[in-house]
Amino acid sequence: MTAMTVLGVVLGTGLFGCGNPRAARTETPRAASPAPSGSPSSAPSAPAGALASSPAGRQAPTRAPGPAGLTPVFERGPSGGGEGTRSRDKVVALTFDADMTADQGPRAASGERFDNPELIASLRRLKVPSTIFMTGRWAQEYPSQARSIGTDPLFEIANHSYRHHAFASPCYGLPVVGQADMRDDVRRAFAAFREAGARNVVPYFRFPGGCYDEAALRTLASEKVTAVQWDVVSGDAFATDADAVAEQVLAGVTPGSLVVMHCTRSAAPVTDEAVRRVVPELRARGYRFVKVSELMRG
Ligand SMILES: [Zn+2]
Repeated sequence: MTAMTVLGVVLGTGLFGCGNPRAARTETPRAASPAPSGSPSSAPSAPAGALASSPAGRQAPTRAPGPAGLTPVFERGPSGGGEGTRSRDKVVALTFDADMTADQGPRAASGERFDNPELIASLRRLKVPSTIFMTGRWAQEYPSQARSIGTDPLFEIANHSYRHHAFASPCYGLPVVGQADMRDDVRRAFAAFREAGARNVVPYFRFPGGCYDEAALRTLASEKVTAVQWDVVSGDAFATDADAVAEQVLAGVTPGSLVVMHCTRSAAPVTDEAVRRVVPELRARGYRFVKVSELMRG
């Protein structure tokens, strides 16, 4: 195996799968997934009971538990009624996974950049409310950025696990978290956000690779998080053509969409450029950008 091949394999196991359509479509046992949004079982909880305190004490809407108390799964907002959709319903949530796997510290130390401050700057300049699904390991590597993102009202930070290991297998070659360690992995990420000084933390969790099964949903039920998937894959992981990523997003977005992208420069190098193309175009089409918490509020 050549050095480049080895590098590709290593990179692939670190990030691949977050945003791959197969993660949500085929590796997710449908039986374990609550009904799609819009159905009674996944409607937002009643206001009084819907507000769960985030670890930082803020309140964000969550979904009611799924069947048998399973962790609820949110994939997108209401469609708003198709053709006749009113402009106020044309909302879309851009989400960015800040990936860093627990064993990637040496690579960061040798200069690999798992952050993407240019992307965050673009989102601020364009005033795009966004949700960052951050791994705890990322927050530890970039505490000042985690604090800056987590104290800016434009953003909210959600949990993408501490180690970025898989909660169901197989999952694109990611190492697997044992069931006994799943809750601790989620708690450890929330703790890392607190230690970094992030305050805008919401009780949402994105499974690494989007891979989950009924056992994982059952195990995490005690953590009172809402699992957040997506309906639009940007394809930004390992992409080299920003136009292609932008086109894929623009082709996929419908009112209520939830888009998955990445905030990890080394493995998603054209995301900033793609976002700068997507945002004005979607606004021209009448869309308004919202955080996942607002999308979930409906
Ligand atoms: Zn990820």
